[in-house]
Amino acid sequence: MSKILLVEDNEMNRDMLSRRLQRRGYEVVLAVDGQSGVEMAQTESPDLVLMDMSLPALDGWEATRRLKAVASTRHIPVIALTAHAMSGDREKALEAGCDDYDTKPVELVRLLGKIEALLSGFGGDIASARKPTA
Ligand code: MN
Repeated sequence: MSKILLVEDNEMNRDMLSRRLQRRGYEVVLAVDGQSGVEMAQTESPDLVLMDMSLPALDGWEATRRLKAVASTRHIPVIALTAHAMSGDREKALEAGCDDYDTKPVELVRLLGKIEALLSGFGGDIASARKPTA
């Protein structure tokens, strides 16, 4: 069973998404701000992180930068979640080290596709865009 760390400060979003992921067979651990998200990535060793970008304590960009700066958490795929598909968010996600990106409200089937791609090692949009085209 794959373990997903969901970092989300909005209680309703957190409850709804965690229940839907659990129903699909994922183990879900929760963090409510960026700082505890970074800490839980270290203590829980999740297989993947779903990172809201707008978070208290540390925002999702900075939390992702910290995860990607440390050898023990660098390998964990991070999917950025943002409320608005604002131009520039995708580039910011790439710069922060996110492996993929999706917008809220979450479309579960689309998000599950991205989760499964990263868990199976095929990478998401951003990860595959990074790979050299051989
Ligand atoms: Mn938020």
